[in-house]
Amino acid sequence: ERYEVRYFGAGPALLPTEVLEDAAKALLNYDDTGLGLTELSHRSENAWDILKKTKADLAAFLDVPSNYEILFMQGGGSGQFSAVVYNLVGAWVERKKDELIEVLFGGKSEEEVDQDELVAELKKSIRSEMKLDYLITGSWSLKAYQEAIRLLGQDHVNVVTDSRAINTSGKFGKIADESDWKLSKNPAFVYYCDNETVDGVEFPKFPAALAPNKDGAGPIVVADMSSNILSRQVPIENFGVVFFGAQKNLGPAGITVVLINRDLLPPVTPQPSPALMRALGLPIAPVVLSYETADKNNSLYNTLPIFDVYIAGQVLKRLLLTFPNRVADQEALAKQKADIIYAALEEHPDIYRIIPDKSVRSRMNICFRVTMTKDIKDSEMEFLELAKDRGLIGLKGHRSVGGIRASNYNSVPLEGAVELAEFLRFFAKK
Ligand code: PMP
Repeated sequence: ERYEVRYFGAGPALLPTEVLEDAAKALLNYDDTGLGLTELSHRSENAWDILKKTKADLAAFLDVPSNYEILFMQGGGSGQFSAVVYNLVGAWVERKKDELIEVLFGGKSEEEVDQDELVAELKKSIRSEMKLDYLITGSWSLKAYQEAIRLLGQDHVNVVTDSRAINTSGKFGKIADESDWKLSKNPAFVYYCDNETVDGVEFPKFPAALAPNKDGAGPIVVADMSSNILSRQVPIENFGVVFFGAQKNLGPAGITVVLINRDLLPPVTPQPSPALMRALGLPIAPVVLSYETADKNNSLYNTLPIFDVYIAGQVLKRLLLTFPNRVADQEALAKQKADIIYAALEEHPDIYRIIPDKSVRSRMNICFRVTMTKDIKDSEMEFLELAKDRGLIGLKGHRSVGGIRASNYNSVPLEGAVELAEFLRFFAKK
């Protein structure tokens, strides 16, 4: 048995009670097989069906175009910080190789070209041209950027914008005007984090500077949507890769979803051979982080936690039943809830200081300070204690930044947002 609580934790997040009740039964005996879900082979027909249905429902709910592949991987959002580098550097090399063969060795096939010469030319191009572009707008994009440097070295990683440089406090909280971004000419990809979970900063919409031109040409854009996926419509066709850990808006921790444009996979873009990558001094993707391998094996190269996929599938099934206009309806509700909470905070500027700039306030992670006394920490401790007395929990900010963070993921019902807003008013008056 569980009793309902108002939980605003930043992730893992609440899952619908009915889904957990069904999952509890399936954990003992799935579909009358006599086996529980965690005991089923990931290669069984049942597992295969769960995977297929979950993919189809995710594509339906989010409107994933048919030229995109849905991959289920492991290693979390953090694993993807590395995976995008390995895989998309490989894709960049492959494109550059084709271009060089065409331009310098006109007409020859790859096999006819002198391999040492090709490697030498590729090395030159890599040294002078290969850049990965990162927008640093909060703690998670900063981590992804640091991982790119760890794998490739600083020379290949370009900072498009760093929000810390435009805030007088040197902290995150604003996104620089697009006209001030410094994009590279032909980057392997441009990376950003759509919603910064720790700092409460969310891109209001897809950045115009990254949009394809009228001929459809534009940079390969990668986005981390770990904390706002399924909460608003996404122009997926503008992205090369979108990834997210399941544990905030989709299901339990343990699976990571990758939406990838098929142009970045074979046969359009095969990964260069490990021998070539080695010769070029570039890192080779561990096989479990290879998109090509995940795709070729229907996400079942190695043991996938099918139980996690099952729960994600049940969450999606419920979402599809609840929202006739799918993610558009969820978007309206997410906005309504966020507006209710921000409105209560704004009524008491003497007590609450919202951290991010209004232009980039997250609908998902609402970050603020409680400033009624000089000692902010004392004020916040009191705030958290009284909130807990009212059954409102999980409100403590990330340990790296402090403060209060109300995470407003999909599983927080409208009543939860209303109760939090009531508490914010009650506390301010008190
Ligand atoms: N990106 C974002 C935006 C996140 O919020 C998180 C986790 N909170 C991560 C990446 C890292 O995810 P994981 O813990 O699954 O590696």
